[in-house]
Amino acid sequence: MECEGKTGIHAIIVPLPGQGHINPAMQLAKKLASKGIAITFVLTQSWHNTITDAHSSTGVNAFSHARNLGLEIELVAIPDCVPGEFERGNKLYKFSQSLDNMESHVEELIKNLNQSNPTPVSCIVSDTFLGWAVPLAKKLRLLSVSFWTQNVLVFSITYHSYLAERQAGSVIHIPGVTPLQPADLPLWLKLSPDDVVVRVISRCFQTVREADWVVANSFLGLEGHVVEALWEKMRVYCVGPLLPSAYLDLSEPRDSVVGTSYRVEMDCTQFLDDKPPKSVIYVSFSSVLPMSTSQIEEIAMGIKESDYSFIWVLRHPGKECAEVSSMLPDGFLNETKQRGLVVPWCSQLKVLSHPSVGGFFSHCGWNSTLESISVGLPMLGFPLGAEQFANCKLIADDWKIGLRLRSGDDTDKVIGRDEIAEKVRRLMEGEEMRRAAERLRDVVKMEVRKGGTSDSNLERVVDELKTKLI
Ligand code: UDP
Repeated sequence: MECEGKTGIHAIIVPLPGQGHINPAMQLAKKLASKGIAITFVLTQSWHNTITDAHSSTGVNAFSHARNLGLEIELVAIPDCVPGEFERGNKLYKFSQSLDNMESHVEELIKNLNQSNPTPVSCIVSDTFLGWAVPLAKKLRLLSVSFWTQNVLVFSITYHSYLAERQAGSVIHIPGVTPLQPADLPLWLKLSPDDVVVRVISRCFQTVREADWVVANSFLGLEGHVVEALWEKMRVYCVGPLLPSAYLDLSEPRDSVVGTSYRVEMDCTQFLDDKPPKSVIYVSFSSVLPMSTSQIEEIAMGIKESDYSFIWVLRHPGKECAEVSSMLPDGFLNETKQRGLVVPWCSQLKVLSHPSVGGFFSHCGWNSTLESISVGLPMLGFPLGAEQFANCKLIADDWKIGLRLRSGDDTDKVIGRDEIAEKVRRLMEGEEMRRAAERLRDVVKMEVRKGGTSDSNLERVVDELKTKLI
């Protein structure tokens, strides 16, 4: 990644403390730093510790790596004022409310930085889900960039939530968005208006309107029509997919990629090297949301029945070190050991981009979806919550790069092994889905290269930032 001349702009980036938010925020940090902006990247203490420790065997972490590349990125920690990744699980309410605790620490940090740093902070780049951040920027007379880590479809649906409410119970029509079933709406539009999560998100969507810029981790080739329909009301600049450039530009070595992973990554290369092309299905559900034991059992038996090889990222909920065998059917690990690998965590992008992997069985988190698209892999969607049902609808119905296993109508229903096995086979053998996914991969490559729409949009935001600061 080349670094352009210094702009004299100092931005602090505040991601929401969660894996799916920190990963793209780090990529955004690198891109802004490569355009000459000095970055202070803010993490809560335990995220700071685990990210720096997770790679201690190599002595390199994502931040020291960025600095080695000549990028001006400083990592700073604020106290642990929100629950960490392990504690989140079902406690979404507590987590949402606790995000406000970050405000006073970030305000104090900015004051300290301004005393000790020759270049004062001029801009806050913050996750849209941190509803306090844009008002704080206004209070401190700083510019603000609101960073939306999901797709623009979900932004637009939430922005137009009053429309969704008015049409409750029927098919929902939102400008620029193909008609949606109520079951596909993001979770926060299905809850009562008094719910804590709904109140937190409503505030975010009031304050985002005051941001100087909104940038989204998506790309125009995927969502141009949604962005266009929203443009008169809200200008959202698509600058994604925000992924390590080695996975978007094959000329860069992938071994040099250093991630911002919460956990130690197991190396799956040897297992994959021994398998034929497109013969392995990669299975990974949310890094956060839990799944019932009976559903895990059906998934295990379904994968086994499908006869495909697999890598499955599986951890004991809450107990990081506990054995996963207790969650799996008796004998499963032994009977599948020739063709299956169960790991607690891996470098997902490295696995997805290996030629032996032919499909992704996923909860349809937005980062996972972008990662799958960027390497041209079809997906089998098993959404669990949040906005994942909307993502799954895009994957299966709109872009036709995958199949859906679970609908938002009946989330208590356990999906049986036969249906799972049948859809795994259809996914791995479906040529049309694969071709559609590969076409999208090619669009991604065009959008992120120099002069592509995602690169130009970021350039535009940086140019406007410079103009406003002069
Ligand atoms: N991830 C990973 N290794 C794993 C499982 C997940 O690196 O073994 C990463 C994945 O590449 C993605 C993130 O964790 O970048 C998960 O984000 P996503 O938005 O897909 O889902 P969330 O966990 O936020 O629901």
